[in-house]
Amino acid sequence: MAIDLVLRRDWHARERHGDYTQLDSTKGVKVHYTGGRVEPGIIGDHAVCVSLVQSIQGYHMDGNGWIDIGYSFVACPHRKVFEGRGLHHLPAANGAGLNAGHYAVLGLVGNAGLVEPPDGVLHGILDAVEYVRERGNAGKEIKGHRDGYSTDCPGEPLYAWVKRGAPRPGGSTPPPDPPTTPPFPGRLLKYPPVMRGEDVRTWQQQMKVRGFEIDVDGAYGSGSRDVCLRFQREQGIDDDGIVGPTTWRLSWEAPLT
Ligand SMILES: [Zn+2]
Ligand SMILES: [Zn+2]
Repeated sequence: MAIDLVLRRDWHARERHGDYTQLDSTKGVKVHYTGGRVEPGIIGDHAVCVSLVQSIQGYHMDGNGWIDIGYSFVACPHRKVFEGRGLHHLPAANGAGLNAGHYAVLGLVGNAGLVEPPDGVLHGILDAVEYVRERGNAGKEIKGHRDGYSTDCPGEPLYAWVKRGAPRPGGSTPPPDPPTTPPFPGRLLKYPPVMRGEDVRTWQQQMKVRGFEIDVDGAYGSGSRDVCLRFQREQGIDDDGIVGPTTWRLSWEAPLT
């Protein structure tokens, strides 16, 4: 499921009071909680999430004197992810000196009231984690605010979840990685004459996975060329019957039809 973003304009965020500091890459994400009471009634009313995020922004700007809400993103019990400072901006919620290492993602739970993170919060945090990995050049780390800093944050239940490896709720294993594209072999696969090699076999095998009738024999002859031509036309790319870098990549990455 794709991330369900609540953009700043959707939650009526206040204008920031200054320029963000550019964040080119991070080691990953640090997870936070509110550190205060979260009304359990929030579970049944997303409007409460919106006003809570607004009040956190107000506290950070008016109380802490920050330019904006401190968090990069905020995950609510409804598996929605509020855009805080967003991608490529230094957060202000990790403590002095630690900000540059991680995006800051807040789960809307507290130390009273709603303490146990609902599945929607955990999914939302992980949706944000995947989002910053894909779009924000974030690394693999998922840590708690208290890692490397003296604080209770993100509270016992969330921290225990982080220490367990931050699994998706309801599944014992995280979803498998999408199939990865083998590196392009560095030569064009073409015919004539017949070309032979493991790279040919690897590509033929993938074409078979795609449902083409093809001999997986490691020899690129007229049959392979015809499959290549059909695949290229299917994908709307130049049909030259030659497996170059683009055809190679699409062989793995194009959606299966
Ligand atoms: Zn924190
Ligand atoms: Zn909500």
